[in-house]
Amino acid sequence: MAIVFEGKSKCPLCYRELVDNFMLFPNLISNMKDILYPFSDAGVHHECLNNNKFKSLILNIVAKNNALISEYRNVDNPRNIIVIGLLTSDIEEELHKFNFILLNKRQVWNDKTVFLRIATKFLDDGKWVSSSPDNNYLKKLVEKILQLQ
Ligand SMILES: [Zn+2]
Repeated sequence: MAIVFEGKSKCPLCYRELVDNFMLFPNLISNMKDILYPFSDAGVHHECLNNNKFKSLILNIVAKNNALISEYRNVDNPRNIIVIGLLTSDIEEELHKFNFILLNKRQVWNDKTVFLRIATKFLDDGKWVSSSPDNNYLKKLVEKILQLQ
């Protein structure tokens, strides 16, 4: 969950300081090109959220993210699991269907080849610009999936 310093951290929608009447969003995506990136790991005024056209989208994504976290907490052996979080909030993207998946490393993933093709193309097309270039989530995910059987 975002860490906000009251009166110092700023709302990414209005750039005013966060003093009160704001909500915190979890770290959802590190792709700076995603339309929901500004919300990721940020505090946002309720008023700004209510006036934002992405309000229902972001709340829906947060609900799916929370559901995935609960599901992950209930798995028997977390070490066998690869967590795929939000990859893109754009429903037009093929990559969208791979949002929020728990993958068991010990099972054959039938969509592996399709995922690798789509994710690699997404990267090659420059659609993923990581907020921390040394730690590109999608690139690392592709490397992990490549190692699966
Ligand atoms: Zn605001």
